[in-house]
Amino acid sequence: MPVRDEAEKIAGEIAELRHAIHREPEIGLDLPKTQRRVLDALDGLPLEISTGRALSSVTAVLRGGRPGPVVLLRGDMDALPVTEETGLPYASAVPGAMHACGHDLHTAMLAGAARLLCARQADLPGTVIFMFQPGEEGYAGARHMIGEGVLDAAGQRPVAAYGLHVTSNKLPCGVFSTRPGPMLAAADQITVTVHGRGGHASQPHRAADPIPAACEMVIALQTMVTRKFDVFDPVVITVGSFHAGTTDNVIPDQARFLATARSYSAAARTALADLVPRLITDIASAHGLTADAEYATEYPVTVNDAAEAEFAVQTIADAFGPGRGETAEFPITGAEDFSFVLEEVPGAFVMLGACPPDRDPQDAPTNHSAVAVFDDAALADGTALYAELALRRLAME
Ligand SMILES: [Zn+2]
Ligand SMILES: [Zn+2]
Repeated sequence: MPVRDEAEKIAGEIAELRHAIHREPEIGLDLPKTQRRVLDALDGLPLEISTGRALSSVTAVLRGGRPGPVVLLRGDMDALPVTEETGLPYASAVPGAMHACGHDLHTAMLAGAARLLCARQADLPGTVIFMFQPGEEGYAGARHMIGEGVLDAAGQRPVAAYGLHVTSNKLPCGVFSTRPGPMLAAADQITVTVHGRGGHASQPHRAADPIPAACEMVIALQTMVTRKFDVFDPVVITVGSFHAGTTDNVIPDQARFLATARSYSAAARTALADLVPRLITDIASAHGLTADAEYATEYPVTVNDAAEAEFAVQTIADAFGPGRGETAEFPITGAEDFSFVLEEVPGAFVMLGACPPDRDPQDAPTNHSAVAVFDDAALADGTALYAELALRRLAME
């Protein structure tokens, strides 16, 4: 029976697991309930299972009956600090926590793929590592799992690694999208504190006002993006938080702001880390102030290996037929910690449309929205793609 049909047959159980995880979302690196559900779903399967030490990860290794290489499949498991407003029957029962990025689907699909692949264990020419990962949303869970040895869990490094991500908008339900090269941006954080000297707002010349200098920095960062970076190697900087002062007639001592910096190449990222702090401290000094500017690297660029991305596109075409896959023209400005895996192992990250059929993908709420909805109809497709990528990649060697 084709893998797709097998996935359809267990779609109800995959949806049940997804809904259970969705109802009780957990945030960060410690997801004990989610981990328990994954372990229960894998119970009885012929897998070597280990759990994380510093985080509630699950690593499962399936050794096929025939010799061959190792392939890694990854699904992330964590939720976001968002209060759900979808009104779905399986909506989050935890105020302030929601699976608004669809990681509940990834977890359930990966568990489904483990079942399908375990059923083919005897004929499997190699080994599959299933990487159930906490802490994607800002906690670098993938880096922690690499540190705890997920890439060596089978005793031999994987030849390829694949990750899937659902999207509540843009792509129609069931349509896959990937591309060779940069797939998602690097995301770094800029933290700035401008130190002035407070005083009476009517006598600014007797104080050292940090606010105009901080405003100048915000504008100068945008000018820097257009003057210092190649337009074909894009950079995005957004100041998302800006705080200073308490009232209209007091000059504060300090102004603080936070920005995110997105880039798509190591060169642009290195230049950002060098230029941003210099621009900030030089503007402060031009006004007789001082400033602390910290450039903290977070997630690297998610770079798809060209051959693996092509293999994924071919697998989608072969397994799902025409019209179900697209090669994305541009990368996405979001970021992913699967990038840490792809720095070590060639592979591909694939997006999967999960927009409900009654919504227009072009204006449906995005991932991370309190009203984002991911349709269960994508579950069998994602499960089948995980399994197909492993089966076909192992058969290639
Ligand atoms: Zn997210
Ligand atoms: Zn995500």
